[in-house]
Amino acid sequence: MTTNSTTSSSFAAWPDRLRRSAIVLMAVMLGLSASVMFGGLSLQHAGLIFICVLGAALVPWSLHHAVPVTDDQAGMRPAEAPVVQALVGGMPEAAVLLDRAGRVLHFNVAAAQLAPALRKNELALFALRTPEIITALRQAIATRESQRATYVDRVPIERWMEVIVTPLLLPTAFGGTEYCILMTFHDQTPLRRVEEMRADFVANASHELRTPLAALSGFIDTLQGPARDDVRARERFLGIMHAQATRMARLIDDLLSLSRVELSAHVRPDTLVDIVPLVHQVIDGLEPLASERQVTIEAEFPNTAVTIAGDTEELLRLFENLIENGLKYGASGGRVAVSLTEPSTNDGSEIRFAVRDFGPGIAPEHLPRLTERFYRVDVGDSRAQGGTGLGLSLVKHIVQRHRGRLLIESVFGHGATFTACFPTLKGAAKE
Ligand code: ADP
Repeated sequence: MTTNSTTSSSFAAWPDRLRRSAIVLMAVMLGLSASVMFGGLSLQHAGLIFICVLGAALVPWSLHHAVPVTDDQAGMRPAEAPVVQALVGGMPEAAVLLDRAGRVLHFNVAAAQLAPALRKNELALFALRTPEIITALRQAIATRESQRATYVDRVPIERWMEVIVTPLLLPTAFGGTEYCILMTFHDQTPLRRVEEMRADFVANASHELRTPLAALSGFIDTLQGPARDDVRARERFLGIMHAQATRMARLIDDLLSLSRVELSAHVRPDTLVDIVPLVHQVIDGLEPLASERQVTIEAEFPNTAVTIAGDTEELLRLFENLIENGLKYGASGGRVAVSLTEPSTNDGSEIRFAVRDFGPGIAPEHLPRLTERFYRVDVGDSRAQGGTGLGLSLVKHIVQRHRGRLLIESVFGHGATFTACFPTLKGAAKE
């Protein structure tokens, strides 16, 4: 098989070798003709010498050139070789290989989805009509330097794309090179979304901090000016200033906790924690708020220890946020039920910490967005309750770090139930 292919490839390559040796052969022919005419060399000898030189010129120059060329590649340009096609086809993102004139040689499935009009041997510009791509391609062809361009693809959905146009020199089998152009397309949409989210987050955080700060400096001005000698006003303003300062401190606290949990998201907590005493501790701490709101906390816990692999501080934060939300937003129901159970699931069992309130509940359109940072159903109500809009986002991150899940159920007008589910120790060991 190898021999066959070598023979046929050598055969297929002889015109190339003849072309390369043409000048030498012509020089030999001239020399021999001169020798026959003026030097007395016989025509037969001259013919013999020429045939020897011609034979030498047609012999493959080295084994390296003779071996790698296969039947398939015989007479084929390197850019058209199956190996190049396989490489383009195997690229994870959309890729198109063009010849030096911009005609399509190969493209992969992702590229066909991106530009369904792409056809082999046709100009790529017919299928890729976006001005940014056309400019980048033209510049790459003209300058033979790599070009990058970004553009927005609006069909079928809006996507931010980046195209990289890279001129390539492919080595030919006989030491030469063939010039072609590789276009790769990268979907930048997820990165752009993260960037947008980060920008939104900074804008929201600054806005949340600026509001109490503005209130504080306003009251300081009033106390230094018009209310300087008004004892009653001073007392009232100091009370408001204290509340605003507490709100700022809480916001900064929540921001720091959120960033700490996010930083350690990939490290699963491994300390064994009995969560029953933790929930008791949180309920005890929230009793003053419950009695202020005239809400009864009903607790239903097993008598035995409920142990999970967890981070005590984070778990305390999670229990506190969920129970406090029940007391704040579900106060009109008059009671909040806190339970700890271990129901069976498809994968064995899990530990469920649930907080149920009987307040106004949450309309279904808000449910999917509740764990977004700074998302509130009613901003005014949240602020009035001292909320930061970060509590449920923090809860979601803590649950995720513990490899659990957060369930939110609510029937509008009939209260809400927030359930944090954690893997049991047996389930955690299996993972
Ligand atoms: P906040 O600091 O505002 O309480 P959270 O992230 O804890 O922030 O909650 C986000 C929003 O979800 C709240 O502003 C509130 O509108 C809504 N919410 C949370 N818990 C409840 C609940 N038990 N009942 C009704 N609405 C709730």
